[in-house]
Amino acid sequence: MTTRSEREKAQKLNEQHQAILSKLLREEDNKYCADCEAKGPRWASWNLGVFMCIRCAGIHRNLGVHISRVKSVNLDQWTPEQIQSMVDMGNTRARKLYEAHLPESFRRPQTDQAVEVFIRDKYERKKYYDKEAAATAPQKSSEAAPPSSSPSSQADRNRQEKEREKKKEEKKKEKDADKGDRHNNTKAECRASPKKGTEAAVDLLGLGKA
Ligand SMILES: [Zn+2]
Repeated sequence: MTTRSEREKAQKLNEQHQAILSKLLREEDNKYCADCEAKGPRWASWNLGVFMCIRCAGIHRNLGVHISRVKSVNLDQWTPEQIQSMVDMGNTRARKLYEAHLPESFRRPQTDQAVEVFIRDKYERKKYYDKEAAATAPQKSSEAAPPSSSPSSQADRNRQEKEREKKKEEKKKEKDADKGDRHNNTKAECRASPKKGTEAAVDLLGLGKA
C-alpha cells in the first residue's frame, strides 16, 4: 500500500531524475549514440553508463543483462543508483574506456549487422577496452557503477550493508563499554567510599579504643 505522500515523493524523485538525464543529454558527446553516433539518443545502458539510439539499445538488449542493462530515458523509472551511474560515466568517459584501442582508421559501422558486431566487440569481447584506465579508475565511481539489481552489485550492497552493520555494532559496543566503564567506576567508587568510610570508622574506633 502506498500513501499519497509516498506517491508524491516518488513523483518528485522521478522529476529530479528526468531533469538530471535531460541535462546529461545536453552534453556534446551524449547528443550522439555511444556506438553508432546516431543523433539524439533516447536510450541508455545504465550499468555501462552510455546513451544510445533505439537500434543500438535493441542490440544491447541482445547482449544480455550481465553485459548491458537498457532503459528508456523518458519512459522508464530510474533509481538513484542508475542515475548516478550515468552521471559517473556518460559517453565521453565511456569512449575513453571502451574505445581506447580503437584503430584511428576505424570507420564506425552503419548497417545493423555491422553495428552488432562492433557492439559485441566493444562490450562483450572488450576488444578496444583500456584495462589500465579501468584499474586506476577512482574507487567511488567503480562502486557506483555496478547495477543495483545484478547479482554482483547485490553482493556489493550486502557487503556494504554488513560493513555498516559491523561499524554500527562496533560503535554500539564502544558506547556500551563506555557506559559500562562509567557504570563500573561509579560502582567501584560507591563500593570504595563506604569501605573507606568503614575502615576509617574501624580505625577511628581502633584509635578510639587504643
Ligand atoms: Zn546507435
